[in-house]
Formats: sequence, structure tokens, C-alpha cells
Amino acid sequence: MSKEICQKLVEALLKRGFEAEVAANEAEAVAIVMAEAADVKSVGWGGSETVKALGLREKLAECGKEIRDHELQMDLFLLSANAVTLDGRIVNIDGRGNRIAASIAGPGRVVYIIGRNKIVDGGLDDAIARIKKYACPPNCVRLGKKTPCAATGICADCDSPDRICKVMAVFDRKPTGISAKVIVVDADLGY
Ligand code: SF4
Repeated sequence: MSKEICQKLVEALLKRGFEAEVAANEAEAVAIVMAEAADVKSVGWGGSETVKALGLREKLAECGKEIRDHELQMDLFLLSANAVTLDGRIVNIDGRGNRIAASIAGPGRVVYIIGRNKIVDGGLDDAIARIKKYACPPNCVRLGKKTPCAATGICADCDSPDRICKVMAVFDRKPTGISAKVIVVDADLGY
């Protein structure tokens, strides 16, 4: 069933101007990313737990790639999504906006790696609800942020200086002028 859902999302993303393909599992996703990185020198990443879970930083470093954090100018930028609607809209929320900025302009190539757990069968409200429920609380805990969601697991739409959800981007279509691909992985990755 999840394979059909991943394929449906790929078809929606293709209609929205992204390159897109399904990876049947983590190993296939890693192989696709490594092929993308074969001819590049520098690779950036958006602090993604998905990238971490796939061990991509280490694998890319072993291949002699220069790994950069939080920079706009790089050959290849890897990131995930906090949520993606089944009809193909990618939603990301940042504290600083650096990840979102790099996904819009700067890198030579942008590659999203999105696990099936990020797919919502609904609209933007459902996507944001997913992010507030499943992405922000564990990220706040991981980053040591003193926010209500870190303490309770529930978003309080806080005014905390530690708030991590300050900038939101909805990719209704692939932005003009960038080269971008989405790998939809038929596995749960990140949060
Ligand atoms: S607004 Fe505050 S409480 Fe809500 S998810 Fe963001 S950081 Fe957590």
C-alpha cells in the first residue's frame, strides 16, 4: 500500500515541476544520492535527521566530498521535508530559515529525501499540524530548546526565544531556475 502512495506522490511532484522517483528502501535512497553526488565537490545538508539516519554525511565524506553546513553556495544540497501533501506540496519550517533559503537559491542542485512518514493525505493545514505534532517537539528536545513542546510534546504556539518554527515555506511548484529532485522513500525516516 505504501508503495502505491509513494508512487502517487511522485506523480504529483512531477506535475509540479520536480524531478521525482521512488526509492523502495533506505539502501536504494542512499544509492540514488551517491549517484547524484558522484561528480560534485561540495555537498551541503540542512541538519536533516533523514540524512543522518541514512549515514549520508559519513558516506559522502569517505568519498572525498567537502561537507558544508548552513551555506548557500554548494554543488549539491541535501534536505528532507517536514511534511509533504499527497498532491505534491512540500512544506518546511525553520528557525533561522537557512535550510529553506538554500532550497530556493544558491546550490547547483537540490535533492530532497522524503520518507513515507512525512506524507499527509490532506491539505496545508494537515501538513502544518503534522509538523507541529511530530517534527517540532522531537527537534526541540534534540536541540535542547526550552519550549513548551519540548516539555509536553504539544505545541503551544509559543513566544519562546527558543522557538524553532519561525519561517515556513510551501513549495507549490519547483522554484524557477533551480534544479531539484525529490526521492520519495518507502520507509519511515526522520521526523
Ligand atoms: S511554536 Fe513553540 S511550542 Fe509550538 S512547535 Fe514551535 S517551538 Fe514548539
